Amino acid sequence: MTFFEFCANLREELLEQISGVKNSNGYLSWDNTTPNSIIKHRLESMLDKYVIQAKEFGIYVVTRYSSCSNVSHVGYPTENRYGISIAYQDSNFIWSGDQLYQGSRNSTCPCSKSNKPSSNHVIDDIIFDKTANLEKCSELSRVLQDVSESIQHAGNNKSRSGIREHLLRAVLRLNDTILPQSVSEYITIIRRDNA
Ligand SMILES: [Zn+2]
Repeated sequence: MTFFEFCANLREELLEQISGVKNSNGYLSWDNTTPNSIIKHRLESMLDKYVIQAKEFGIYVVTRYSSCSNVSHVGYPTENRYGISIAYQDSNFIWSGDQLYQGSRNSTCPCSKSNKPSSNHVIDDIIFDKTANLEKCSELSRVLQDVSESIQHAGNNKSRSGIREHLLRAVLRLNDTILPQSVSEYITIIRRDNA
C-alpha cells in the first residue's frame, strides 16, 4: 500500500465515523441512543487496524511497563504486536517521545512468565524505524494520537463533542498530509502573490 492510499483510506473511515454514514452495526454513530461503548469499540478496532498497517511506513507501537506487582520487576519490560523483540530504547528505532496511550490496562506484565493478568500502568510508545521517512512518521504519529485521544473521550457519560473534536483534527492533519502542500502553506503563497 502506498502512503497516499493509507492516508486516503484512514481519512475516509474517519469521516464515516464522524458522520455515521456507514453503519455496520445498524446504529447511527452519533445517534444519541448509540452507547459510547459501541463507538469506543469501533474506534479501537479502526485504530488497531491502522497501527498494524502503519508498520509499512516505519511506525511501531511498543508497550512498556513501568512497574507491576512482581517484586523482581526492573526497568521497562516491553511487549509488542510484531512478533519481534524491541527493548526499551532499542537503537534501531527513533524513540520520538510520542505516546499513543498512557494509563491503566488490564494486562500481563512481560517481566516474568509466571505473572498473572492485573491492572498495570502501561505506556504505548510510538517509535520510528531509523531508515523510514521521519517526517511522514511524525505526521502519521500525530494522526494516530488524535484517534487514540478520541477513544479516551469515549468513556461512558462523556460528551460526544470530545470524540468528534479529535477525529476532526485527525482529518484536518490528513488533509494537509495528502495534499502537495498544507492549507496554511497555500494561504501564505496566495497572500504573498496578492500582496
Ligand atoms: Zn513486571
